[in-house]
Amino acid sequence: MSDENPYLASRLHGLGTTIFAEMSLLAVQTGAINLGQGFPDTDGPAEVADAAIAAIRSGQNQYPPGTGIAELREAIAAHQARFWGLTFAADTEVLVTAGATEAITAALIALCEPGDEVLTFEPTYDSYRAAAAMAGATVRAVRLEAPDYRFDTAALDATVGPRTRLVLLNSPHNPTGKVFDVAELDAVADVCRSHDLVAITDEVYEHMVFEGRHVPLATRPGMAERTLTISSAGKTFSFTGWKIGWVCGPADLVAAVRTAKQFMTYVNGAPFQPAIAVGLGLPDAYFAELREGLQMRRDLLCEGLAAAGFTVHRPAGTYFVTVDIRTLTDEDGGTFCRRLPERCGVVGVPSSAFYEDAEAARHLVRFSFCKRPEVLSEAADRLAGLGQVLARSADQAM
Ligand code: PMP
Ligand code: GLN
Repeated sequence: MSDENPYLASRLHGLGTTIFAEMSLLAVQTGAINLGQGFPDTDGPAEVADAAIAAIRSGQNQYPPGTGIAELREAIAAHQARFWGLTFAADTEVLVTAGATEAITAALIALCEPGDEVLTFEPTYDSYRAAAAMAGATVRAVRLEAPDYRFDTAALDATVGPRTRLVLLNSPHNPTGKVFDVAELDAVADVCRSHDLVAITDEVYEHMVFEGRHVPLATRPGMAERTLTISSAGKTFSFTGWKIGWVCGPADLVAAVRTAKQFMTYVNGAPFQPAIAVGLGLPDAYFAELREGLQMRRDLLCEGLAAAGFTVHRPAGTYFVTVDIRTLTDEDGGTFCRRLPERCGVVGVPSSAFYEDAEAARHLVRFSFCKRPEVLSEAADRLAGLGQVLARSADQAM
């Protein structure tokens, strides 16, 4: 659609409407269960919501400071120290952003010269290519192949060129659910150090790891001084619509991101900032229960998807599971997802949205399991009838 728009700058051609927006709209239009776009169907902790309401009532409704309120920056620094042993100075090394999305975009705009290259992994979260395009940069990606999504270290190194400016790493990884292990992180760190690259990490699923453990790249030797660590409150506190994110790192790198951020949104989410500070200070039990609840939901949905006849790539982290649809259909994932609501009242997203070459993932579809167990069970029941629906439509076609 966007390609034909004469007003749209050429560097944004091909970006169109995000697949998440398209599939959420389809879910609303058809009344289908939305396992596409990743957002929970229950609210986050009541004390966090209450803190936001109290902040509105007490008049915290004007522009907050450009870097975010001190209370939140301190809570972010304390959270990084408590869970990952990372030390940041709250006044110079922490910046509050409009979600992780803005943090990533502002970082690429701030750090890349036009023509620079951003090294990342594919499948690639959809905003990365768009953010690179807005920065005038391009993405070079190293493929993670199912089922274990390992990568070739030599290929990673070989993908670095003279214009490579930085590495953008998402772990735990959307859409695969891969959690990069220490050896893999060290391979990435080696490439960064040997080619003098900055690393930007997207750790929005940091508290959603079921197998292995989350290790921030910034904790690996020689990386703290060259890494911007990004996360957000959306996933951890189930308030995706609040759009409170943050970036932590060396003061000069954070100041560069702030320079871009201040002309993008200037500031964001005044009354949500003190509330997320409350959330970040919740006891360990909150974070453990979040993980355990999601692990149970992962198992529930994976079982339902397997029973429906899909080949399931069980995720180690995040709240997404990828399936191979070839056991059920020859259709490509996009066609399959657009027909799924009418066939059985469920929405997923085609994984091709995460690939430059859509053909590479024509057989892969992503479902989200951050929904109530009864909703996941209902979705599984509906999907159980899919094989029959497909067989019937094949009969009719004959
Ligand atoms: N990165 C990844 C990998 C994501 O899945 C998402 C989706 N929420 C984001 C960034 C964006 O986070 P936010 O809503 O905080 O902008
Ligand atoms: N991160 C969410 C997902 O992967 C989508 C957020 C968005 O629509 N930008 O489903």
